[in-house]
Amino acid sequence: MISPAQNASVIAARLDDLRYRVDRAALRAGREPGSVRIVAISKTFHPQDIQAARQAGQVDFGENRAQELRRKAIAMKTLAGDEGLRWHFVGRLQRNKVRDVVGLATLIHSVDRVEVARAVADRARRIGSVQQVLVQVNIGNDPAKGGCRPDEALTLVEHVRDLEGITCQGLMTVPALEVDPRPFFGRLRELRDVARDRWPEVQHLSMGMSKDFEVAVEEGATIVRLGEAIFGSRSARP
Ligand SMILES: *Cc1c(COP(=O)(O)O)cnc(C)c1O
Repeated sequence: MISPAQNASVIAARLDDLRYRVDRAALRAGREPGSVRIVAISKTFHPQDIQAARQAGQVDFGENRAQELRRKAIAMKTLAGDEGLRWHFVGRLQRNKVRDVVGLATLIHSVDRVEVARAVADRARRIGSVQQVLVQVNIGNDPAKGGCRPDEALTLVEHVRDLEGITCQGLMTVPALEVDPRPFFGRLRELRDVARDRWPEVQHLSMGMSKDFEVAVEEGATIVRLGEAIFGSRSARP
């Protein structure tokens, strides 16, 4: 067993190393170091782990289930040091869970159909806010992955733009396992470039996870979503 203090210093050291690797990948692509945001995906990990990462300077955290997001957000309020922490939602969004997420998440990465966009916009207007979202694209047309079809993405962005209470800040994808992700990341970037030419607010590219984030940054990611690389193996968790 390792103690909580040892665990906290392991998490801090991993974050340091990851920040360095992200910045180096950005430099290789001729981009500014510091221009890529790391979102720490804390699903299945304990609030103490989130606290350790927060105390090491990590600001952005993400969850993929609405209930777990709520639970962790409440738990973090009871721990010291959650000031300035920002939540992201990266999972499949059910319409009946929208109210749990809107307003709590700084950025919802996973809007993949018009009905969800509408529900998010309705809820945001009701609470008097504007919800920032990304449109999730199933860039490899993989039946196992969420996201709209690539050929529907621009239409969906346009629908989102027509709604009040919601704003599309970019695109997100989760490529299939066991394939070389680079061409898929490249395709999402091309799609973002087309969208950004029409609608300048469509800036972000949320792509890259623990196993492929350096490739994603080389291909233009502005947000990487890292879970196991920060917190350790999910299957090894006690
Ligand atoms: C779990 C998850 C991640 C992080 O995956 P790791 O392999 O732990 O880095 C990123 N994005 C989404 C949508 C996830 O569900």
